[in-house]
Amino acid sequence: MSPDPDCLFCKIVAGEIPTNVVRESERTLAFRDVSPQAPTHVLVVPRDHHRDVAELAEAAPETLAELVSTAKAVADDEGIEAHRLVFNTGAEAGQSVFHVHGHVLGGRRMTWPPG
Ligand code: C5P
Repeated sequence: MSPDPDCLFCKIVAGEIPTNVVRESERTLAFRDVSPQAPTHVLVVPRDHHRDVAELAEAAPETLAELVSTAKAVADDEGIEAHRLVFNTGAEAGQSVFHVHGHVLGGRRMTWPPG
């Protein structure tokens, strides 16, 4: 899928916007969230543009599997065995960037239900 010229995370993947990259794989990029909500807060994105996790699962399931593996590797690198991998899907669920991203959150006690 070709990059969306209006997509912030496509620009980050292309290196047009600087970010703090913590891990890369063939099909994914992991970088620190600019507004961390936990001691570890890393976003894992596919290099290709997909709107949300359901669309990614439909279009490129192997990339979704790689994204989850990257998220696990980030958690291992950060030493956070207990962590959350969150995909906000849709504006009402809190999705603000419509290029699928998994939030890897950890390093503090998590509460339930999420807000
Ligand atoms: O799930 P949601 O779409 O709201 O997540 C978007 C995330 O992208 C936010 O946590 C926000 O802090 C992060 N972000 C970022 N770098 C930017 C813009 C947004 O890390 N330049």
